[in-house]
Amino acid sequence: MDQNKKKQVCFLWKEAYDEMIRHCLQASPLEACGLLSGKGSSCEKVWRMINVEKSELSFAMDLGEMDRTFAAMKLADHKFTGIYHSHPTALPIPSDEDIRHSIYPHAFYFIISLKEPKPQVACYLIDQLEAAEVEIVIL
Ligand SMILES: [Zn+2]
Repeated sequence: MDQNKKKQVCFLWKEAYDEMIRHCLQASPLEACGLLSGKGSSCEKVWRMINVEKSELSFAMDLGEMDRTFAAMKLADHKFTGIYHSHPTALPIPSDEDIRHSIYPHAFYFIISLKEPKPQVACYLIDQLEAAEVEIVIL
């Protein structure tokens, strides 16, 4: 992580924050995943996605479901602004695989850790195999 860069800020609506955690707790012990949308660059709405890998250690989304979700976002006059997945037993730090598979450098990349009794959420921007932590501001 590049600590010299000033930390960016991500605005996340409280309902979206709560919904992400709810989804991840329901899917546990499997990893959950989903997308976020909003106006401008905020993350306002959660779109739950199916983890087609049905794994406790990884996730992948179905491309058809992603296309349909991007279309639904457009209809809602929203932009795709974020992506999330859970770490049922690990800290909210992107794994090497997360970083390698990340293909949306402008999307806020949330990881919800269920390792501790109280879920922990962290957010990153991942670009060119570099993850920079982003400060979350809950609205
Ligand atoms: Zn991960």
